[in-house]
Amino acid sequence: MKNIKKTIFISDLHLSENQPKITQNFLTLLSTHRAEAIYILGDFFETWIGDDDPSDFHSFIKRELKKITIHTPIYFMHGNRDFLVGKRFFTETGCIPLTDEHKILLYGIPVLLMHGDTLCTLDKNYLKMRQLFRNKLIQRLFLLLPLRYRQNIAMKMRAKSMNHLYDLPKAWMDVVQSDVMRVMEKHQVQFLIHGHTHQPKIENFILNNSSATRLVLSAWHDQGQALIWDENAHYEMVII
Ligand code: MN
Repeated sequence: MKNIKKTIFISDLHLSENQPKITQNFLTLLSTHRAEAIYILGDFFETWIGDDDPSDFHSFIKRELKKITIHTPIYFMHGNRDFLVGKRFFTETGCIPLTDEHKILLYGIPVLLMHGDTLCTLDKNYLKMRQLFRNKLIQRLFLLLPLRYRQNIAMKMRAKSMNHLYDLPKAWMDVVQSDVMRVMEKHQVQFLIHGHTHQPKIENFILNNSSATRLVLSAWHDQGQALIWDENAHYEMVII
């Protein structure tokens, strides 16, 4: 029987040294699911303070990625946690960088890929901060700081963002449907795949008089989960 071609989508693993189970689940995914391409849609790492960070854990993950990219392309989109992943990482791992709002043809079907944070438009403070963090000049200045300064800043910011999330109204942590529809219309797609909200779902609605679908990837804190889409346009969320 002919092998059916498949593509894997994951996001929000938040890989970190302190959560070995997540790393284990990721390695299990790589060894048990064969695909012709893997898309990582943001927040792959819990934190990334620069490609020059000599962390053993990050070196280990880079080596595992390299083993895969020798035979299977891995596309990598930045999230709000790992937006500082840079050129050196891509050279070392062979991963291919994607910018946010990336449109692909998935076995003939136009599909838009995003991290998802820019769809949560009720949280204006976050969007303002994001603009700062994504500013190339500010990033370059930050990367000039000694590593331990950067570690310190990253730690403080994480603590602050935890408090911030705790205070947020629940609706602020989800997408705004009118913005979802706007971005899908802009890119002329009926399918959108994103992560970030940690609220996995497959949601159908009507866009331009025909059916549209938003597929939200899961975070990996409790268990690994991937979206697997095959060449017959069958897709399913698979628990790892
Ligand atoms: Mn995120």
